[in-house]
Amino acid sequence: MSKQNELVPPPLKNDCFSLPADTHWTPVSEALALLKERLHVCVGTETVPVFAALDRVLAEDVVAQRSNPPQPNSAVDGYGLRHFNIIEGPQTVPLVDGRSAAGAPFSGVLPGGHAVRILTGATLPEGVDTVILQEDVTTDGKAIAFHGPLKKGSNTRKAGEDVASGGVILTKGRRITPADLALAAATGVSQLPVFERLRVAVVSTGDELAEPGQKARADQIFDANRPMLLAMIAQFGFEAIDMGRSPDDREALTAYLNEAAGRADMILTSGGASAGDEDHMSALLNETGSMTFWRLAIKPGRPLALGLWAGTPVFGLPGNPVAAKVCTLVFAKPAMDALGGAGWQEPVSLKVPAAFTKSKKAGRREYLRARLRDGRAEVFLSEGSGRISGLSWAEGLVELPDAAMEIHEGSEVAFYPYSAFGL
Ligand code: AMP
Ligand code: MG
Repeated sequence: MSKQNELVPPPLKNDCFSLPADTHWTPVSEALALLKERLHVCVGTETVPVFAALDRVLAEDVVAQRSNPPQPNSAVDGYGLRHFNIIEGPQTVPLVDGRSAAGAPFSGVLPGGHAVRILTGATLPEGVDTVILQEDVTTDGKAIAFHGPLKKGSNTRKAGEDVASGGVILTKGRRITPADLALAAATGVSQLPVFERLRVAVVSTGDELAEPGQKARADQIFDANRPMLLAMIAQFGFEAIDMGRSPDDREALTAYLNEAAGRADMILTSGGASAGDEDHMSALLNETGSMTFWRLAIKPGRPLALGLWAGTPVFGLPGNPVAAKVCTLVFAKPAMDALGGAGWQEPVSLKVPAAFTKSKKAGRREYLRARLRDGRAEVFLSEGSGRISGLSWAEGLVELPDAAMEIHEGSEVAFYPYSAFGL
């Protein structure tokens, strides 16, 4: 056998773990800018009652139908007075019969030189412009004694001092919080215009996957991505559709994608997104000609296969659960927001001192599983992307910039709590 026909191993380069210099690795910011430019809202609108509107995305600005408070009222339990009658120093003022309580206002006009019992939230009777706190008076039930002067208007709330009728209270694109529901209800808004919930289908791929709860062969692993991704989508406020697991088989995967495209506005797959023999996701998207294969300058999770399947955007996430989660937070979540009507949302980081040391190389952005303790960012003991325990240990991600960085204890780093992504 001639030497020429022998397979010769490629020479090991001393930089074999660095990024290839001749390939373009798309920086994270460039990839995000493309998504921002190209993705637009793809869902319709509907109206829902406030009681069912939590986490929905507003499709229009919302206007107060009523002022808050609608009428001037008392901020405390006490006694209502005419400021004009109050003198400096000790004084005794007779009480009128009756009182003003929340929901049971005093019907008459307060006569000059008198006081009226008033409770928190009660409408100020005509003539009352000032309220004295009950703790600041002595009373026998017929009169009150107290020290003047009092500031005019003290312990009262003016009509509309919080919100004026006709003013915008909530803006289009906002994801509705529990407090927003209080604001809407308080200002007379009982129905909210929202975008239909974006439907996001989740497919796992891989012959090695077994269903949680079923028997797994020794060479199988349980599908960890599906429960995680479905739960993340639900926490983001979208509708998660479980499509199950597809084997590493092009025909089967085609059927899964066809069904997902029919039922959802966006598809998340995990696994098979690289360029290996069994990477059928990227191969299929390639065949339809709609594939953009993003070699992203990001760790973890470099290969991300993007494409359209029957017009539905597909995010082909890496199979590795750590990479799948990071890529979902960094790329798929903003895409869901854009498609679902919330517009382009950028997570907000906290700048905190590091509780770790690391020498980071230039060329790609890195995300470390991290959590805050005593105001400092700790990172998980291993950066291994197969370490699912670290995902659960972490409470957020530390983001390290594309450039090289020497991190010492106390160096400032950007920490994103998972809540910054809507989790
Ligand atoms: P792949 O991207 O298909 O090459 O998968 C990368 C790694 O992630 C492999 O070790 C897979 O076994 C693993 N993996 C793929 N899908 C899942 C999943 N749904 N749950 C847990 N691990 C997975
Ligand atoms: Mg696979």
